[in-house]
Amino acid sequence: MKSRGKVRQMMQEQQEIDVAANLSAIRERIDATANGRSVRLVAVSKFHGPERILPALGAGQRHFGENWVQEAAEKWPPLRRIHSDIVLHLIGPLQSNKTADAVALFDVIETVDREKIARRLAAEMQKQNRRPECFVQVNIGEEPQKAGIPPREADDFIRLCRDDYGLPVTGLMCIPPVDEEPSPFFALLAKIARRNGLENISMGMSADFEVAIAFGATEVRIGSDIFGPRPVP
Ligand SMILES: *Cc1c(COP(=O)(O)O)cnc(C)c1O
Repeated sequence: MKSRGKVRQMMQEQQEIDVAANLSAIRERIDATANGRSVRLVAVSKFHGPERILPALGAGQRHFGENWVQEAAEKWPPLRRIHSDIVLHLIGPLQSNKTADAVALFDVIETVDREKIARRLAAEMQKQNRRPECFVQVNIGEEPQKAGIPPREADDFIRLCRDDYGLPVTGLMCIPPVDEEPSPFFALLAKIARRNGLENISMGMSADFEVAIAFGATEVRIGSDIFGPRPVP
């Protein structure tokens, strides 16, 4: 006999997910909130395979977010042979022993959050002669379990990344605390970006992207509203 969890998982897998329809619904909601500003949609495809990613590519989606270097390195090279204009964003924590692979694979690294990573990224970029854009991740709710630089250290860290390591820092990224009203956190990230002259503000996920856009997000990262529930890895 199969366990109930197993049965539920099989039912989820059989459930039809219309990725193209979900994408166009999300784009409409983004446009309705963005008020004429352009807001980039990053489709977060972690744990999903080509059966979900190919329909997104077919619908014209090109920016994708992945959390793990290893998983992305296995999934994306074959897809890039079909579509050469895919733009990959690293949105999960970067370990220092993965910086070489990250520089080789990603176009935007959104999780720069400590000096050791900044130093390794700078060295790898020089070695590979590749310069993926960098966002500094801010631990906007100062939660001990979350990655990111604390808000009060953000200005100094951004300066360090840019001036001492010469990284192409173009934006900030955050994940606000789950059980709190997110708008003050979004407002704070936008303020830090503005005073540091950074144009990209990556904030907002399936549950809160419209609030994030209202508070100045230039990029939202959406997974489950596009691809459905994530399979257990
Ligand atoms: C998984 C993930 C997302 C997407 O989350 P959804 O709630 O599925 O939209 C966005 N950003 C980060 C950093 C993530 O890890």
